Amino acid sequence: MQRKVIVENVYEINSARLMCRLKELAKIGRNKNGGIDRQLATPADIAARKWLIGCWQKDLGLEVKIDPIANLWGKVPNAGNCKKPIVLGSHHDTVPNGGMFDGALGVLMATEVKQTLQENDVELLHPLEVVSFTGEEPNSFSVSTLGTKVLSGRLQIDDLVKIKDRYTGESLQDAISRLGGDIMQVPAARLDSDSIAGFLECHIEQGRHLFDQQESVAAVTCITGIYREIITITGEANHAGTTCLRNRRDALAAASEVCLAVEDIMRCSGMEDIAATIGRIAVQPNTSNIIPGTAVLTLDLRTADSGKRRQALEKLQEGIQKIAARRHIYIERCLNLDQAEMPMDSSIIEAISDAAAANGEKRRLLVSMAGHDAANMARITKAGMLFVQSVDGYSHCPQEYTNEAEIAKAAQVMLDAVLLLDRRLA
Ligand SMILES: [Zn+2]
Repeated sequence: MQRKVIVENVYEINSARLMCRLKELAKIGRNKNGGIDRQLATPADIAARKWLIGCWQKDLGLEVKIDPIANLWGKVPNAGNCKKPIVLGSHHDTVPNGGMFDGALGVLMATEVKQTLQENDVELLHPLEVVSFTGEEPNSFSVSTLGTKVLSGRLQIDDLVKIKDRYTGESLQDAISRLGGDIMQVPAARLDSDSIAGFLECHIEQGRHLFDQQESVAAVTCITGIYREIITITGEANHAGTTCLRNRRDALAAASEVCLAVEDIMRCSGMEDIAATIGRIAVQPNTSNIIPGTAVLTLDLRTADSGKRRQALEKLQEGIQKIAARRHIYIERCLNLDQAEMPMDSSIIEAISDAAAANGEKRRLLVSMAGHDAANMARITKAGMLFVQSVDGYSHCPQEYTNEAEIAKAAQVMLDAVLLLDRRLA
């Protein structure tokens, strides 16, 4: 389909170059299973940083700045524009045995958009900067979206100096200094709310809405809230052979009912866009000839609608009380995380949708049910996300895949969205 001209000039991104860079970056940390191991502060993380810095310096002529938490920033030296920058980017780290698109696509698409604009001598009103954030994925330092938590002031020096690698014992401070940052300078890394005009992140959807509809792109309206509880179920350990049914207070059998009650939340009408999961169970004493005495569960509940979350938790409480009463056991619930949903900026959603429509795509809007750096960036600037189709919805695994044609469309939409935002943002 012919693109509608939404700006005076139409600039075509170079999708072959973008794919080539994706494949190059995917070689760094590639394991025997075909997955990618590029977790925070590992040799692969360091190698990816080196590769990216080289690419930004050599291919784009950018000045690369490593901030105190080791986020990588690619900037044009002495950009003449008088406005605040528009920032594009994502992260280059992966989960263990992760895929080649999560994060990397956002960083390299930002790179491609920037390079295309440079090659066409496009003068923007805002300087366009690219960024790759530090430690977005959960890692052995037990902190995710590390780079943007620091930028947005959610983590301070006092928090950071306490963090250690749970396997090696290395301090986060030492790890960050190996990456070229300096935790003691973190206050200087914090971004003021008026320092950036806007932030845009492209990411694979990591779900299958777009794939099932056979659509390419969507603008993200909101990043889900994440609520976690530890649920402790206390029954009574006793002999597996001699304890008859009426005397049993089996914590694991009760836990099984709790799991089903949690799953039932998603079956209620009006609760289709809520995700509720019991992801972990630890049973005591966990032995074949003893009735389980205690079971500890983790509940992960996600929705972009705080009203629905409240409803879901009330329904769960009702169900849990019934299970506890019928089985004569105690169930204790302890809040572990209550991260509010984060709406994306309406002007960025609109620019992505307009750019999608101009490229012959639907104006699809989606909620992100995964957390992203954009949620932290939204605390300090107008932030938005462009989702691109994931084949079969796979993510955080080696099967993660997005077709080149979809990537090319998304890159074009992103470039056009940047041109729109350059005019529309202050
Ligand atoms: Zn990601």
